[in-house]
Amino acid sequence: MQKLVLASNNAGKLREFQELLAPFQYEVIPQGALAISAADEPYLTFVENALAKARHASAASGLPALADDSGICAHALNGEPGIRSARYAGVNGNDAANNQKLLSALQGKADRGAHYVCALVMVESANDPEPLIVQTRWYGQVVNEAKGSYGFGYDPYFFLPELGCTAAELEPSEKNLISHRGQALRELIAQLQTRA
Ligand code: IMP
Repeated sequence: MQKLVLASNNAGKLREFQELLAPFQYEVIPQGALAISAADEPYLTFVENALAKARHASAASGLPALADDSGICAHALNGEPGIRSARYAGVNGNDAANNQKLLSALQGKADRGAHYVCALVMVESANDPEPLIVQTRWYGQVVNEAKGSYGFGYDPYFFLPELGCTAAELEPSEKNLISHRGQALRELIAQLQTRA
């Protein structure tokens, strides 16, 4: 088993990563279990923020690290809240306030299209010159009525037209099969497996 630090303290993400990584030979250690503080996320892109988080967790632990930076981009809002998804309404991680702000911003807009983004970065060490990097999208629509109790964040309002339900109505294993995070992790593992 190879130790891997997960550079996140988001409980929803942790649950998803633990399930997604279960089939692989990693002992996944959330950074909080090592008392590693959250890294700053000062950059304008998901990829740069994910890389900063991965480097920070690897430097603090001396272990390989995996980080994701993710968010929801509403098409009628030019991609907002985007990289600011976790703190859209001001307080980091306040899902209810974030969702209310998104619904207010979309009020009266005809285009309810949105996508989740996941940038996923794995580093072998803090100064790894060849980080593994993957970025994926998951498309849906933002609806006014919340449905479902699985998932986290914006999931109760993220409607999937082809399935006729929200992301929060999907069982965790169903969400992981199609979500931005699931897609990204499978692509990253595939890249990892091509490395000698
Ligand atoms: P990060 O921790 O800075 O990457 O912020 C990610 C934020 O994007 C979360 O706090 C959620 O608000 C949102 N987000 C990312 N992925 C998901 C998801 O799978 N479901 C719902 N919200 C998500």
